[in-house]
Amino acid sequence: MDLFHDSPLLTGVRQMLGGFAQHQIRPIAIQHDQEESMPWELMRTAQKLGLSQTAVLDGRKKLTGVAEDPDPTKPKSQGRLAVIGSEELAFGCAGICLALGGSGLAASPVARMGTEEQKAEFKRLLAGDDEKGHIKVAAMALSEPATGSDISGLTTTATRDGEHWIIRGSKQWITNGQSAAVYVVWAQTEPAAGRAGVRGFLVARGTPGLVPGRKETKLGIRASETAQVHFEDVRVHKDMMLGSPAVPGEASGGLADTKKMLDSTRPVVAAQGVGIARAAYEFLLDRVRGGSLHGTPMASHQHIMFELADMQMEITAARLLTHRAAWLADHHQENVAEASMAKAYAAKVAQAVTTRAMVLLGEEALAPGHPVDKWYRDAKIYDIFEGTGQIQRRILSRQLTGMNPT
Ligand SMILES: Cc1cc2nc3c(=O)[nH]c(=O)nc-3n(C[C@H](O)[C@H](O)[C@H](O)COP(=O)(O)OP(=O)(O)OC[C@H]3O[C@@H](n4cnc5c(N)ncnc54)[C@H](O)[C@@H]3O)c2cc1C
Repeated sequence: MDLFHDSPLLTGVRQMLGGFAQHQIRPIAIQHDQEESMPWELMRTAQKLGLSQTAVLDGRKKLTGVAEDPDPTKPKSQGRLAVIGSEELAFGCAGICLALGGSGLAASPVARMGTEEQKAEFKRLLAGDDEKGHIKVAAMALSEPATGSDISGLTTTATRDGEHWIIRGSKQWITNGQSAAVYVVWAQTEPAAGRAGVRGFLVARGTPGLVPGRKETKLGIRASETAQVHFEDVRVHKDMMLGSPAVPGEASGGLADTKKMLDSTRPVVAAQGVGIARAAYEFLLDRVRGGSLHGTPMASHQHIMFELADMQMEITAARLLTHRAAWLADHHQENVAEASMAKAYAAKVAQAVTTRAMVLLGEEALAPGHPVDKWYRDAKIYDIFEGTGQIQRRILSRQLTGMNPT
């Protein structure tokens, strides 16, 4: 019985994207990992299939052919569709999954905080091809060389100058940072307001002073581009600021109000961790079913089978947490704790399963181009971005007692 997909729509999406992962992503995954290159052609194919980069703005119709019920009080399926899709795509390759969906990170704050004009402008900037003939992508630039988890320390500033804001600062570890056609950059507009002074701005590629920087070489998810971006007195019209201007003394507004956004994106990231773990587990299971060790079937060795049994339990538990967090969001219920639990636990499972798979396979998995070696490297980032493991535990601790542990 399929425990996770309670409707033909969700099952259909799982089957469609599972097939896409198996037949279109897997065959090119190792090549893009080794070359550290984005799968531009596949990204175009995915877009044609309805895997919109701006699904969060467009709704689900492009992918499923069926629009979400417009009644805001009715349960949605967007959260569950996203976790189901993410698990399947990351099962194919987490780096390619991020290349296909990285623009969604920038689309989320636009969907949540943008005016209709800003949403239209964001989509316009993503239409057509870029100067290299690639489909256009977007980037969300928040992290800085000295600021990741704690955004109150942002040093990028936006200073008002008449009808414009002047943005100055550097961003680091930005997905699509080198190639983006449009950036959502976060800057401090009102230092006295701390976190509540941070605002997002839409900045188009080619704006004078916007300088894409060095591309990073990474351990894993190497098909997804990560780069620095510099903002050297970039002049942006005031209409391109997301949300209303910060008010000195007010503790809300801007990025301080977007925590809810993370509650819907964390389950999606968690689902990618589940996809990586499942990839390694299924690889091992296939090997065990047909293999022998010391002249007896591998499946008769308890130390191997107990590892597989544990992996199956852990993956299932991580998936249930992830679906629970998405289900709550779809049903307009608070999911702060569930989203953090899903993210922290799925990251742990992805690392634990891939590490044990490496051990069970032995030296074979150390060969360059071995899929288990790739999944082992891909898993690590899931404990870092979208809130590190420690940050998730901090959120959970605060939920338990109302206090921030020091
Ligand atoms: C491949 C990749 C892609 C990325 N993509 C993007 C992107 O598109 N856009 C973007 O803006 N950013 C992106 N990031 C940045 C990512 O979000 C940050 O790396 C992450 O937030 C952690 O920040 P940091 O690296 O500065 O670590 P820090 O925040 O400096 O943390 C360092 C260590 O201290 C711990 N720590 C920090 N604060 C606390 C605390 N209060 N309590 C306990 N422990 C704590 C952390 O858990 C961590 O172990 C990406 C990063 C990578 C590696």
